[in-house]
Amino acid sequence: IDFIQALQLEGNKEKKEDEEKSEYQKIRMTIEETKKSLPVFPFRDSLIEAIRNYQILIVEGETGSGKTTQIPQYLHEAGFTKDGKKIGCTQPRRVAAMSVAARVAQEMNVKLGNEVGYSIRFEDCTSDRTVIKYMTDGTLHREFLSEPDLASYSVMIIDEAHERTLHTDILFGLVKDITRFRPDLKLLISSATLDAEKFSNFFDEAPIFRIPGRRFPVDIYYTKAPEADYVDASVVSILQIHATQPLGDILVFLTGQEEIETCVEMLQDRTKRLGKKIKELLILPVYANLPSDMQAKIFEPTPEGARKVVLATNIAETSLTIDNIIYVIDPGFAKQNNFNSKTGMESLMVVPISKASANQRAGRAGRVAPGKCFRLYTAWAYKYELEDNTVPEIQRINLGNAVLTLKALGINDLIHFDFLDPPPHETLVLALEQLYALGALNHHGELTKAGRRMAEFPTDPMLAKMLLASEKYKCSEEIVSIAAMLSVNSSVFYRPKDKIIHADTARKNFFHRNGDHLTLMNVYNQWVGSDYSVQWCYENFIQYRSMKRARDVREQLVGLMERVEIDMVSSISDDTNIRKAITAGYFYHIAKFSKGGHYKTVKHNQTVMIHPNSALFEELPRWVIYHELVFTSKEFMRQVTEIESKWLLEVAPHYYKSNELEDSTNKKMPKTLGKSASK
Ligand code: ADP
Ligand code: MG
Repeated sequence: IDFIQALQLEGNKEKKEDEEKSEYQKIRMTIEETKKSLPVFPFRDSLIEAIRNYQILIVEGETGSGKTTQIPQYLHEAGFTKDGKKIGCTQPRRVAAMSVAARVAQEMNVKLGNEVGYSIRFEDCTSDRTVIKYMTDGTLHREFLSEPDLASYSVMIIDEAHERTLHTDILFGLVKDITRFRPDLKLLISSATLDAEKFSNFFDEAPIFRIPGRRFPVDIYYTKAPEADYVDASVVSILQIHATQPLGDILVFLTGQEEIETCVEMLQDRTKRLGKKIKELLILPVYANLPSDMQAKIFEPTPEGARKVVLATNIAETSLTIDNIIYVIDPGFAKQNNFNSKTGMESLMVVPISKASANQRAGRAGRVAPGKCFRLYTAWAYKYELEDNTVPEIQRINLGNAVLTLKALGINDLIHFDFLDPPPHETLVLALEQLYALGALNHHGELTKAGRRMAEFPTDPMLAKMLLASEKYKCSEEIVSIAAMLSVNSSVFYRPKDKIIHADTARKNFFHRNGDHLTLMNVYNQWVGSDYSVQWCYENFIQYRSMKRARDVREQLVGLMERVEIDMVSSISDDTNIRKAITAGYFYHIAKFSKGGHYKTVKHNQTVMIHPNSALFEELPRWVIYHELVFTSKEFMRQVTEIESKWLLEVAPHYYKSNELEDSTNKKMPKTLGKSASK
């Protein structure tokens, strides 16, 4: 019997291997076919020739034409990696870098991280064998610090150039400079839209290589009146399409993870209630912090007879192409970081998109067949309210981090740096002032020793300063945990709709009386105490994936602390020290309790509120420090911790004067008063 069984097993095994082989062959076939069907394919040879002939080339082609996934492979096949040098390709978004690298590894039939890899902040998935490397633009910006001539690359592709992120804009100036003393380095600037001429002008009249796109017509529909709640309106539209329109996948543009999760829940809820009355609807989210196994799901083909709906941030606008989208729902908003150079305040807010964005979004419906785009705003709003183009990031965000990196690269004269579009003068000056106040620059505007150490961290200068300050306050262990948790903050607490009360109770159990930074530290330490348990996360309504990421980030930060020679020491029993270290980094973000239940920022007297999720929401201490501002219905401070005003004179004596901080009481408001005031 054993024998027979073994035979049977053997037979099964063989059969299985055969099946796997043919399964694999099937994938191979489709991959080969897909590659050949992409608009860029017929231009393979002429593109390679153009790259051989010109040092700098601007490549323009519609989204989905194969620029990002194919061109690096063509270059690799054409021998551009023979001498052991790499092909680099930058992406503005981390999800795009990861997902595209995974796709290309699959197309080349290699393991991700070997010949094809990616590198994003806090995560390097490359090896000595890597010849095609995708990375975020921020990562390349930092690579200049260790390799100012990009010696290990034979080709650098600045991809998605039209996105005009801050890092991409700065890279333009840096790579342009490099090509002058590295004649062997090829540079490609690749863009989806109409900016090609502008790029060509900037790069000394570099030739433009155009890849003609294929586009099917897209019918555009508008709502008759503005929608009060676009998430709800999106759900209704999805279900309407699903019930009345022929099969074909749907892509919906929302502004962020929370909104997407809400939408997923609403959809699941309503489709469950409709039950068998409707066809199968696969609901798939995509946003920046989505784990990679979930990201891969959006690319899986939709099963026959079913429909897929992808709920995405504007990452799906140009960075990622999902095949077979026929319907697009566009509520017309995106989340944007905005910086007010008059007040020095930076705030994340949901803003209307530009016409250019709206058209890109609509275009996603017409890649494989004629499509439909449902705009959840009026035709009038499109025509008269939307700006033509999105303002480049460099003209609207805080430049602290960028300026610090440039200074660390030895670029002292920023006013005359070769910008495609220069940042506003005030913003530049403000960044310099801020770095001076943080001690990163001296009064000549030169990098100090502290500044050099701060530049080692791939973070906001304020966070870097907080990390450095932990040395003085002997609490590096705690500060590193807090920094890691801040980097994943918004997604730590799990709050499913049907268990909100339980979830909120669980969250409150972590609250630290002095605020949210220490609350986050509590969460991290308790998770460590549970031996990094999944079960523990589950029981405490904590997102395991976020915690895992925080652990990775923490590990990286510990490595960087070693590089700047800060010992890891703990001050767990003394949270004053921990809060002082936080204050040493974030002394720009101070608000003082004022009449009427709200706060005023100290330097600019702006009205701000404590976020309802904060541990201090009902406490209302006199002085608080916040991590960030989020604008929704009001300007909210997120991640808030109580401090004492006199610490400000200790940590930032050149920024604060004691008369600004005069405050005889320096005590908490009576709790009852706080409560009634918060209503
Ligand atoms: P472009 O950069 O010109 O916008 P891409 O190279 O990103 O074009 O896309 C080319 C094709 O590769 C598209 O059909 C897209 O769907 C496919 N593709 C890209 N990433 C993945 C992935 N992770 N899985 C499956 N297909 C992908
Ligand atoms: Mg691309």
